[in-house]
Amino acid sequence: MGLEDKIPQGVLLTTAEQLFGWARKASFWPATFGLACCAIEMMSFGATPHDAGRWGQEVFRASPRQADLMIVAGRVSQKFAPVVRQIYDQMAEPKRVLSMGVCASSGGMFNNYALVQGVDHIVPVDVYVPGCPPRPEMLIDGIMKLRTIVQNAPIGADERDAAIAREARQLVASSLTEQKGLLR
Ligand code: SF4
Repeated sequence: MGLEDKIPQGVLLTTAEQLFGWARKASFWPATFGLACCAIEMMSFGATPHDAGRWGQEVFRASPRQADLMIVAGRVSQKFAPVVRQIYDQMAEPKRVLSMGVCASSGGMFNNYALVQGVDHIVPVDVYVPGCPPRPEMLIDGIMKLRTIVQNAPIGADERDAAIAREARQLVASSLTEQKGLLR
């Protein structure tokens, strides 16, 4: 028998982590940031009829310092990779990354030296959305999966440790595809 058995019905019990998660999951502020054609679908995600504002996700911020979600919408060139990392570093903690489309997730059909073969070599990714391009509904699904992750995420020092471990794991992972260019 636990404490919950002694408390009268109608009293809501939760943990601090669950309470923080509940608040955080409904207030992502994505950075205004698109790299290629996937960004058009991301724009549609914020507009009618999809209307990301229904879940409190439509406030795309012009400054990374006011954003806590990076949606990598499009292919990442080697030249632009340091900029992506800089934007990530400037974002507010705790921050999350969603990789949108095959190009961002693995280089996609651009299997060549000019493009990063997976943005998780630059920043730690929480959710991957497949497709070329993913429809806005798929991005919505990815956001819903991210909400579940955030709802159950640790807080405080545990959260920092989890983020450091996640990033270390992803940065040493090998590419999903070999770079063979047109000789593939
Ligand atoms: S996944 Fe398709 S739509 Fe998205 S950036 Fe790549 S080519 Fe463009």
